[in-house]
Amino acid sequence: MIFETRCAGCDTPGGAICTVCRFALLGRAPRHHDGHDGGVIAALAFTGRARDVVIGLKYRNRRAVGRHLAGLVVNRVVETGAHQGLDVVTWAPTSPRRRRERGFDQGELLARTVARQLGLPCRRLLERDTGPSQTGRSRAERLRGPRFRARPELGGRRVLVVDDVVTTGATLQAAGAALASRGAEPVLAAVAATPERRPANVVELRARRSHAA
Ligand SMILES: [Zn+2]
Repeated sequence: MIFETRCAGCDTPGGAICTVCRFALLGRAPRHHDGHDGGVIAALAFTGRARDVVIGLKYRNRRAVGRHLAGLVVNRVVETGAHQGLDVVTWAPTSPRRRRERGFDQGELLARTVARQLGLPCRRLLERDTGPSQTGRSRAERLRGPRFRARPELGGRRVLVVDDVVTTGATLQAAGAALASRGAEPVLAAVAATPERRPANVVELRARRSHAA
C-alpha cells in the first residue's frame, strides 16, 4: 500500500514524479529555439523522460504531474517576460470524444494550474467546432487542424493559450486565429512540450544522458 503511487515518467514506485525524472525534466528545454517555437513558449522538448512524463499525465497522478508541468511552463513564461500584462489564460478544448475517454481535458488542467500560479483568471474562451476527432482524420485534415470559435468579444485582451504538447502547431494556430478574430491582442501560447527536431540536439542530449549514467 505504501508504494501505491508510481512515477508518471518511469513507473518507479514512490512519488508522482520520481527524483530522477524531476531532474531530467529540468535540463530538457527545447534549446534550438530558446523556448520559442513559432511564437509558442515551450517548457520541454518532447523526447525521452519529458515525453514519458507528459504522456503519463493522461494516465497517472494527474493532479501532481499537472502541477509539476504547469510549474515548468510558468517558469518558462516568466523567463521570457511574457507574463507581464496578461489578462486571461485559456486552453484549446480537446474533442468531446477524447474528453470522454480520458475523463478530463489535459489542456484545461494545465491552463487552470498555470493561471493559478500566475495569479490570473482562467476562462473557457474557445469552443471546438464539432467534427471528426484528430485521430479519425487523414494526415492532410489533421495538418489543417481543428476549428474553434471564440467568445465573448475580447477587444484588446491579452490572452495566453496553454496546451500540453504542440505537434503540428495546427491546433494552436486555429485557437489563436479564433481569439484574434474576437479582438484578443496579443495572443500568446505556452505548452509543456514541443518536438525536438534538430539532430544535433539529439546527439547532445544522448551524450548528456550517458554522462549522467
Ligand atoms: Zn521517474
